[in-house]
Amino acid sequence: MTKRISILGSTGSIGVQTLDVARNLGLEVLGLTANSNIDLIEKQIIEFRPRFAAIMDEKLAADLGKRVKNSGTEVLYGLEGVNIVAAMDEVDTVVSSIVGIAGLIPTLEAIRKGKIIALANKETLVTAGQIVMNEASRCGARIIPVDSEHSAIFQSLMGNDSRGVSSIILTASGGPFRGRSFDELKQVTLEQALKHPNWSMGSKITIDSATMMNKGLEVIEARWLFGLGPDKIRVLIHPQSIIHSMVEYIDGSVIAQLGSPDMRIPIQFAITYPERFDNGFARLNLLETGKLTFEKPDLAAFPCLRLACEALEAGGTMPVALNAANEMAVSLFLNKRIAFTDIPSIIEQTMGKHNVNTNPCINDIIEVDKWARDVARSLS
Ligand code: NAD
Ligand code: MG
Repeated sequence: MTKRISILGSTGSIGVQTLDVARNLGLEVLGLTANSNIDLIEKQIIEFRPRFAAIMDEKLAADLGKRVKNSGTEVLYGLEGVNIVAAMDEVDTVVSSIVGIAGLIPTLEAIRKGKIIALANKETLVTAGQIVMNEASRCGARIIPVDSEHSAIFQSLMGNDSRGVSSIILTASGGPFRGRSFDELKQVTLEQALKHPNWSMGSKITIDSATMMNKGLEVIEARWLFGLGPDKIRVLIHPQSIIHSMVEYIDGSVIAQLGSPDMRIPIQFAITYPERFDNGFARLNLLETGKLTFEKPDLAAFPCLRLACEALEAGGTMPVALNAANEMAVSLFLNKRIAFTDIPSIIEQTMGKHNVNTNPCINDIIEVDKWARDVARSLS
């Protein structure tokens, strides 16, 4: 297939899998960005020969520039450099796979250039859903979800009149601690939290999956992507991660999308939509999969899911405060500074201190993000 892409966050879990898809389909990769992993991006530059590569840190960018000086790739640095990659004229699809709110500004940059956005970074819609969707329609940018649940819903909506939707059902694996009580969760270690049963992902989203904040962020993401009220979005625990999500219609029909838990499948579809291409990825064999089971989420053991739904109900900048407090709390947990169950407690206290701005601009969002990080840090 002939398509020109750039990848924001090419050294992460989604970024590396996107390059696998690109290699398979023979896509042209014109831009790459990373925070600091210059060893990996150097290898990616040598293989894919992009026009630009951007590194957040100026010194590391200078180091990388020396290493790849004969490759034909120009090395840029800082947010400005990442934004240049996001806005490249020659690119058709920008894969947005930076982790955290750091992905927001470059993704908006690509949206304002009217690009097709293959969106993995969920924090973009969580923190600025209204602005991002408005800008996308104003600038003619199409946002195609990469997140497996949203890709499943997107596919289950294809060819149907959205007025017939009665609800969407996001499935969740339940993470490594499914079935445990809140008290039992007080003792869990970082190593246990980093072992996701079905998916191999970056460390932040792996912890989000263990606390179920990941599902909460996905509820907010779904609200904006599909323009549905919070009352129409439901969560169902499905430990096998085979049904990636479903849409229930008013006539009682339920349409679901199934597949092996392999992120390359939704990544590929987000890039090739509406076309489909053969690949060598593992096929779903339902005879081998065994039983598919379902449970209700346990909001007492996993308060993060409840907090995210409350933030969505509160609206305005409350999801920004939720997200920022979560990013800070997860980073403290990853550094072994707080216990697993301190994560929801820090988020809830931060939200309790936040005065919602109901109609924020991007600068307001960035300010609330900074404020909530400081509050969350002070609570640890
Ligand atoms: P990761 O931690 O593996 O990779 C993150 C990437 O972002 C890296 O390339 C890193 O260099 C870059 N980055 C980190 N901080 C940055 C900063 N401050 N500025 C610029 N770049 C920065 O993360 P991941 O697991 O690939 O997830 C990426 C995004 O996709 C997240 O928002 C996550 O929620 C979402 N997502 C991931 C998966 C998955 O399977 N990994 C599935 C669905 C959604
Ligand atoms: Mg997901």
